[in-house]
Amino acid sequence: MARPSLTIRLPILMPNRAEQRYSCHGCGECCRDFTIELRPSDFEKMNRQGWDQRLGESWWVSFAGRRWLKQRSDGACIFLGNDGRCRVHAEFGLQAKPIACQVFPFSFSPEPTRARIGVSFACTSVRKSDGESLAHHHAEIVRMQSEVHEATQPMSLPDLVRGVQATEEEVGIVESALDTWLGNDGLSGSLRLEGFAWIAQSLRVATLDRVRSSKLRDLLHTLVAAAPQELGLLDATPPSGRSMKLLRQAVFARMEDPKIARLASQGRVKSVLRQAVTSWRWSHAVGHLPNLGGNHQVRFSQVEGVSPIFAGPEARSIDELLRRWLRVSLAGGRAWGSGLYGLPINEGVALLALNAVCAAWIAQARAASESRTIVSWEDFSYAVGRVDRASGRAPWLGSSGERLRVQWMSLSDSLRKLARWVGSARGDC
Ligand code: SF4
Repeated sequence: MARPSLTIRLPILMPNRAEQRYSCHGCGECCRDFTIELRPSDFEKMNRQGWDQRLGESWWVSFAGRRWLKQRSDGACIFLGNDGRCRVHAEFGLQAKPIACQVFPFSFSPEPTRARIGVSFACTSVRKSDGESLAHHHAEIVRMQSEVHEATQPMSLPDLVRGVQATEEEVGIVESALDTWLGNDGLSGSLRLEGFAWIAQSLRVATLDRVRSSKLRDLLHTLVAAAPQELGLLDATPPSGRSMKLLRQAVFARMEDPKIARLASQGRVKSVLRQAVTSWRWSHAVGHLPNLGGNHQVRFSQVEGVSPIFAGPEARSIDELLRRWLRVSLAGGRAWGSGLYGLPINEGVALLALNAVCAAWIAQARAASESRTIVSWEDFSYAVGRVDRASGRAPWLGSSGERLRVQWMSLSDSLRKLARWVGSARGDC
């Protein structure tokens, strides 16, 4: 007799961060922003809703052998109504939508005995921490988990460094040390950012395969305790031209946003060519930046005329968002392993630090696009949204090219120097 197949359901672990709240306020930003791939179950469910007849056109497109929700020419989902609401949700309810739309802004990062729940800062309500506590969403997430096959399957713990699997204790040691640094109320925002980058690059270059368990605890304890004094003694010269070039490349990789409709209409060759030209412009700081939601376009050179992100009157709220973003990412399993391209812990933490530096640079660029030299909380919030929507989703951020970039920045002390450059008042580091 055939045995019934058992579906293992991993227990859910919500990030234990009381300062982070969320409820959907229906701003529609995610519907304008994301490209949604359809699972077979999504496709069958929505086909039964009869959208081809209702819309008078096909509601999905096929690209690269997979099915996607169709987008309008401006990139917004075809179901986004003029009132800013999802038509599928409005007519058939939440569960009628593709599962990816239901789950957002949450994500699943499975481990051997539990699935951590990540929270995407691409959502405006998450960035504002506006709504119910995260625990409030537990029951709904459990319901959705049963529809996301990979969220029910145990995964091994991440490597500590490539090829050396971490123990549960070691994952906890790294997480707790970074959280201690980020949670230290006695630090200024600029010191917090620079110190995070310094600790991250120190982990990236350390031979962690020989620093296990209690030695790892000692190393991290020393780094966290020494950082405030140590940072004042380190090289305060500005980042090199090569570092700035790599930073612009890293920002480009996080801002790049290929839309299915455009890719399909342009064809593969034209798309690759267009991307190569844009990438070259970013590397060499030639021409204008893409639209950042400001009043006008900015030249690359104008970004350097903007003050560092902690130099203005909104420094405290910018710091609050930065530390909440990083702490929730760590607690939600979005800093390494199954939540971040399967990266080892040391590579994931460095990528997270680079994400923070990129967000600071984008915030400066957005201020420039509104002819300001001071970064506002809105600038930084916009930038965090742009970076976090790509992190863990854009496949190229998990590529060997990106890993090499982070490695070079760590080995050359550039990650820390860049963090100092975008965060601290120049000459007042
Ligand atoms: S971005 Fe967030 S608040 Fe806005 S519609 Fe999407 S889930 Fe809701």
